[in-house]
Amino acid sequence: MFAVGLTGGIGSGKSTIADLFATHGVVVVDTDAIAHRITAPNGSAMPSIAQTFGAEFVAPDGSLDRAKMRALVFSDDTAKARLEAITHPLIRSETERERGAARGPYVIVVVPLLVESGTWKTRVDRVLAVDCPVETQIARVMRRNGFSREQVQAIIERQATREARLAAADDVIVNDDTPLDRLARDVRRLHRQYLALAGAARQ
Ligand code: ADP
Repeated sequence: MFAVGLTGGIGSGKSTIADLFATHGVVVVDTDAIAHRITAPNGSAMPSIAQTFGAEFVAPDGSLDRAKMRALVFSDDTAKARLEAITHPLIRSETERERGAARGPYVIVVVPLLVESGTWKTRVDRVLAVDCPVETQIARVMRRNGFSREQVQAIIERQATREARLAAADDVIVNDDTPLDRLARDVRRLHRQYLALAGAARQ
């Protein structure tokens, strides 16, 4: 199934854009949601996580103790790499499963770290980046998550730059407080283009 990777920094508007594609009947595969699901109670990553990091990283309900793991990987790159060695293959295979099961002309795969984490770009047929100024990201995430400016800046600093994302993108949607009807128009235009590309890929 033809896949468009949708990426962008935190608060750029990925979910907003994905929802607009969904109104056209396009299936959205959300890698963040998959990452959450595999570390939920009885999630497929949990046995390996317990084995590798110890039972203290498993919450009483059998899910990942997110606060504890976040604190560990923030300061320990080796632990981060070990966690990703468990989760990334599971996220990739679940994404492929959902992509294979999807009905419709093509799928949108939301990958926040598409540019950062190497192989994603080769796994999708096209890359769509949502772009907005860093100040807009900061204001949105402060409002949405109740984070401080410093917290949002720290997250943004660990992500790819706007330039790196734009360089990797085939298509770009500018979402700097763009009115919703304008975004909807941009999505409709891209949807037509993706229908044509997916059709050509099936030939
Ligand atoms: P992401 O999924 O990239 O983190 P979201 O789509 O959740 O970003 O957008 C971040 C926040 O900004 C949300 O609260 C969303 O409603 C808001 N937002 C996104 N785009 C716009 C826009 N064009 N105008 C106003 N608010 C927006």
